[in-house]
Amino acid sequence: MPSVLVVEDDPSIRQSLIEVLTEQGYAVRSAADGFSALREVTQSPVDAVVLDLGLPDLDGGDALRMIRGISSVPVLVATARDDEAEIINILNAGADDYLVKPFSGGQLLARLSAVLRRTSSAHPGGGVAAGAAVAPAAEPLRPTTVGELAVDPGARTAYLAGQELRLTRREFDLLAFLAHHTGQVVSKRRLLTEVWREPYVDDQTVDVHLSSLRRKLGERASAPRYLLTVRGVGIKLVAPR
Ligand code: CA
Repeated sequence: MPSVLVVEDDPSIRQSLIEVLTEQGYAVRSAADGFSALREVTQSPVDAVVLDLGLPDLDGGDALRMIRGISSVPVLVATARDDEAEIINILNAGADDYLVKPFSGGQLLARLSAVLRRTSSAHPGGGVAAGAAVAPAAEPLRPTTVGELAVDPGARTAYLAGQELRLTRREFDLLAFLAHHTGQVVSKRRLLTEVWREPYVDDQTVDVHLSSLRRKLGERASAPRYLLTVRGVGIKLVAPR
């Protein structure tokens, strides 16, 4: 199983990246700044590094040059700067590829597996598992009944009081995920990671879909029945009282 070092100072983005990569079977280590990243790379080998360029202690370009000074590990750079000169500079400094933020989990996985494929012959110790980044082996969601709401992920149907709900694909996925975790508070970040599979997408995307889902369930955020917002934490699906 390939190992990846995630270097990212934003804790919620770091956590999302870790989740996306872990779910795909990567062994993930992480660092929140440039010097910790250098220490990690020195201490034990990794198969690839995902390096955020906006770090608190080191300029990302310098961090990259320092990593290059001690290791030929493939480095995928995540940059907020969509600037051609900057990107050329990064590639010249030894990056194997780059991603411009915001990017989706799918894009990260595709770029990462491409970098690992290209470099695996040059890094025989890499041990890149064939198909490591192919289809996700997500936990299958089970049919759930909560109050008068019945959700069947296999059949992709949802009924409320015997009436079939007409949901968009995303609304259905969102409802099925929340139903699978009935009674548990699920953070918006987790929904973005596991339902959208795009950890960099804005939280508001979740809000928009939640409000249309609420409307179809015949409720409002101010008078919820099934979908409770736990302020500052997330959303949970419950049986109405
Ligand atoms: Ca950053």
